[in-house]
Amino acid sequence: MLSIHKQQTKEGLLIELSGTIEENVQFEQLVGPIQGELTVKCRAVTRINSVGVKTWMKYFQALKAQGVRVKFIECAYPIIEQLNMISNFACGGEVVSILLPFSCVACQNEFVANCKTSELKASGLQVPKAKCEKENCGAQFDDDPEEYFYFLED
Ligand SMILES: [Zn+2]
Repeated sequence: MLSIHKQQTKEGLLIELSGTIEENVQFEQLVGPIQGELTVKCRAVTRINSVGVKTWMKYFQALKAQGVRVKFIECAYPIIEQLNMISNFACGGEVVSILLPFSCVACQNEFVANCKTSELKASGLQVPKAKCEKENCGAQFDDDPEEYFYFLED
């Protein structure tokens, strides 16, 4: 089940997706008309299945055809996974930022850090420094950087 929170900004429409993207998702109905550009916040997407992927691509390809500028921000792991598997999953939209999973080596705290893809590219796809919220803790990246950042390679 997917829920969408909408907010009008001066650039256009900001939508926040949360939950699962599966067969019953009706993007056109949920999102409605778009004035200006569309920013899609994907922080709370927990799952996307194969039918969900098809629905997603159909919707965003149609927006591309209509000339709507699309930005994806705070992409969670299920979205990253698809970006890495399907080369045009963003359908011409810009992936502005992604969430990086970290865990603390000292206290086992798990957390995510939002990172701009422009900064990742500028650094040559190095994992940025992150820190556990407690003092004197450390953090390590919880995934394989090469696999995780694959879609950002040129
Ligand atoms: Zn810690």
